[in-house]
Amino acid sequence: MEEIKAISYLLPSEMRSAKGEEAGTCILCGVETEEGFPVEFSSTFTAFSYLAYGNVLCPSCNAFFRNQDFRRRSWKITPSGVEFLKREQVLEFLTTEEKPIPFAVYITSTGQKQGWLQGFRYVSFSKQKFFIHTDFVGCILAEYKQVVEFAELIKFLRERKVSKTELTSGEFSMYTYRRSIENNFELELRKAKEFVSQPLWEVMVYVC
Ligand SMILES: [Zn+2]
Repeated sequence: MEEIKAISYLLPSEMRSAKGEEAGTCILCGVETEEGFPVEFSSTFTAFSYLAYGNVLCPSCNAFFRNQDFRRRSWKITPSGVEFLKREQVLEFLTTEEKPIPFAVYITSTGQKQGWLQGFRYVSFSKQKFFIHTDFVGCILAEYKQVVEFAELIKFLRERKVSKTELTSGEFSMYTYRRSIENNFELELRKAKEFVSQPLWEVMVYVC
């Protein structure tokens, strides 16, 4: 079986069957190839620091890099293929325990940057501890238990009209504090405040 060197290797083989003619080292995954493509970046490309040493794009990385949907949208790639996701579908995937492995999941908030570049070589092989790629907190390693815990707490507080801005910043209005006392959710509010500094918290607030 083919070794999975980077996210691009999860693509179904028919999506990356095009072969180039340049020999060299892939600038994204670092693999030697005889069938590489020339490296051409748009003038707005700024993520050079995330590139590996190399001079071509291998067929897998070329297919991935050329497809603008991977930049514009959120997605998951599993052994069953590529799926572009809405926020609630991302949440559903993250909070489902049984994930087909290996997989990669990416969340974009702007659709502008190739945010997946930062952790391009990190593919998840575990359901309990896995990577989440984003364009707003980079690539993080998440624990399934904590993903579920955060999702439940955020849902609970959202149902009590705590805003996403408050949940992201941990700065709650006087009105929210007062309601938390009146309606008995002070403890949950305090818990949320503790989690605010964690990137996974920000990710979960975004998708919840
Ligand atoms: Zn490559």
